[in-house]
Amino acid sequence: MKISIGSIVYWGIVRLALTIVLLMILYYYLDYGTWWLIGIVSLYIIVVHPIIIQYEMYREQNKLVLESSLCSSCRYFDVTAVLCTKLDEHPSEIYLPCEGMYWEPKSFENEYEKS
Ligand code: SF4
Repeated sequence: MKISIGSIVYWGIVRLALTIVLLMILYYYLDYGTWWLIGIVSLYIIVVHPIIIQYEMYREQNKLVLESSLCSSCRYFDVTAVLCTKLDEHPSEIYLPCEGMYWEPKSFENEYEKS
């Protein structure tokens, strides 16, 4: 299954909503101190940790495109979405949307603007 930043955010929001509902139900059955402890631990286990794992998988899946493709050195490449912003397509190890026609190097100014 292909992981995208959008799917990571979507499922993170779904898990967060379910966790909040679960915590609201538990609020009536637990004392306040225990509820807080379970709340913090469950938020980490159910919401935060899966996001970290999925993001690592996303980075691993796109490692070749992010580090060693022609797109990775192009000014139109959006690293966070693995997207060609010129053609609005997702490059891969075997697919170069512009076939090199629109490649432009990242300039020092582009790098400076991001930091
Ligand atoms: S313009 Fe071409 S080289 Fe640049 S990111 Fe898009 S597909 Fe890749």
